[in-house]
Amino acid sequence: MDQAYERTKEILEKAGIRPTSQRLEMAHLILSKHQHLQADEVFQLINMHFPHASRATIFNNLKLFAEKGVIGTLELKSGITHFDSNMDRHHHAFNEETGEITDIELEEDLEKQIFENLSKSYLEKTGLTLTNASLVVTLKGKPSQP
Ligand SMILES: [Zn+2]
Repeated sequence: MDQAYERTKEILEKAGIRPTSQRLEMAHLILSKHQHLQADEVFQLINMHFPHASRATIFNNLKLFAEKGVIGTLELKSGITHFDSNMDRHHHAFNEETGEITDIELEEDLEKQIFENLSKSYLEKTGLTLTNASLVVTLKGKPSQP
């Protein structure tokens, strides 16, 4: 087994998921790069490599991966879930014309400042405690060529 598979196996085991060969192949394909895929796109990706994998099994494994925190979920438009293979802390830019989703990493100081401001304001106004904040930048138009 090569190193990348070993790492994927470790990720699954740490999450409490039994790494069957199918789950391992599937997680390996999803986690191979940072991407945001809808369930159908995950199915197509897996199907391209393993045409005999059943749709139900793929969807069940996908759900399991999300529940156990192997991948993240992202709902930018109501009712549309994207599965996020980047589990590092990050934010998103969403292009509402092209549908493209890209990761944004904020400078640590700036992120802290935004978080603290929101946290303070919520606590003062509502008495509620802010536990997490995730930023979504919405874009419009087509990117100009560099
Ligand atoms: Zn992301």
